[in-house]
Amino acid sequence: MLLKNFDVTLRYAKELDEEDFLAHFREEFYLKPGSIYMDGNSLGLLSKRAERTLLESLEDWKEHGIDGWTQGKHPWFFLAEELGEKLAPLVGGSAEEVIVTGSTTVNLHQLVSSFYKPEGKRTKILADELTFPSDIYALQSQLRIHGYDPDAQLIRVKSRDGRFLEEDDIIEAMDETVALIVLPTVLYRSGQILDIKRLTDEAHRRGIVIGFDACHSVGSIPHSFSEWDVDFSFWCNYKHLNGGPGGVGGLFVNRKHFGRMPGLAGWFSSAKEKQFDMEHTLTPALSAGAFQIGTPHVLSAAPLIGSLEIFTEAGIGNIRQKSLKINRYLMDLIDSELADMGFIIGTPREDARRGGHVSLEHIEAARICKSLKENGIIPDFRAPNIIRLAPVALYSSFEEVWEVVQILKKIMAEKQYEKFKNEREVVA
Ligand SMILES: *Cc1c(COP(=O)(O)O)cnc(C)c1O
Repeated sequence: MLLKNFDVTLRYAKELDEEDFLAHFREEFYLKPGSIYMDGNSLGLLSKRAERTLLESLEDWKEHGIDGWTQGKHPWFFLAEELGEKLAPLVGGSAEEVIVTGSTTVNLHQLVSSFYKPEGKRTKILADELTFPSDIYALQSQLRIHGYDPDAQLIRVKSRDGRFLEEDDIIEAMDETVALIVLPTVLYRSGQILDIKRLTDEAHRRGIVIGFDACHSVGSIPHSFSEWDVDFSFWCNYKHLNGGPGGVGGLFVNRKHFGRMPGLAGWFSSAKEKQFDMEHTLTPALSAGAFQIGTPHVLSAAPLIGSLEIFTEAGIGNIRQKSLKINRYLMDLIDSELADMGFIIGTPREDARRGGHVSLEHIEAARICKSLKENGIIPDFRAPNIIRLAPVALYSSFEEVWEVVQILKKIMAEKQYEKFKNEREVVA
């Protein structure tokens, strides 16, 4: 399906930019002149507001020392809760159900430690074969901690085509031996969105707890975790949310689980008013805050304060609308301009099944990415054959997308990629 009045001219790209109701946010970001950033799904760019709140937090430390916990511009003691409240609308949770803490993988460990309760025949964990490796390693190690053989106890639902997962196949695997399900909201390679509500309903019908890795969806698509009755979710804030490299992650725990003991406890799991009583019996917070462990990483949470302001102002509904349009535009251009050049779009075409990036498959993908970089375009490569391109709603323009496709066309026509080796770099 083509965009309305679609054509391949630069003039059309400029028209789309003129109609772009989010265009003014672009100037809030540090974009490098002469370079086009298409990797916001791996590491979002720095915004001026994120820089400001980071510097303000440093200033709070400089000015207040230990009193920064309760004083200064962004006091640290309630920072994780306050950021959780600002993030809550992006995942469709209430303020108490969301906390900014840990990192994706650490939060996954925390949530599996808290929610995986093997009992009788119900001992297995259900995931999928396309999932991000860190999640698989975490699940395997959790099974080992419980004394199980991960090869026998971790089910990885197969993909029929190596790109997508069928909800039907996942549901079929939900049998009476499954204790816990962990799936992505959006697949990191193909960008497919899973039907979170349907999978949650089906899991619950079978008495199985279900959680989602939202790394590739948070900040890019709206969610309704509370309404869908998802048990838990976890994510990083450095991709679409632009929270900075290695910045603090986030998690959601459904309020029906409040009061449960965290699997990995620490003093920051405490009810805030009890924490400084320093008792040896933990009174967990009656909120997602209970799943914190230790002292929050204040300086790597600080950029998120400013970044989330932008999301609040822009609105996730608007962000999604532009994201769908600009990614559709990219796919339309690829179809028209790069036909017969060996590319396959490995991303679902339907809006409802597509996240915030386009996955372009090609047998020469590794060296095409190197050529793109040489031409000032930042894509990312996923072995063995995927070029991921992510035009981002808050800072990418339609004209940039047009330029990316023109450059790609030239690289292919002139076989510019042939001078590189077709293998990945250390960080791809
Ligand atoms: C980016 C990403 C991660 C990264 O985990 P960290 O603990 O933040 O390094 C994990 N899972 C998925 C699906 C991701 O996309």
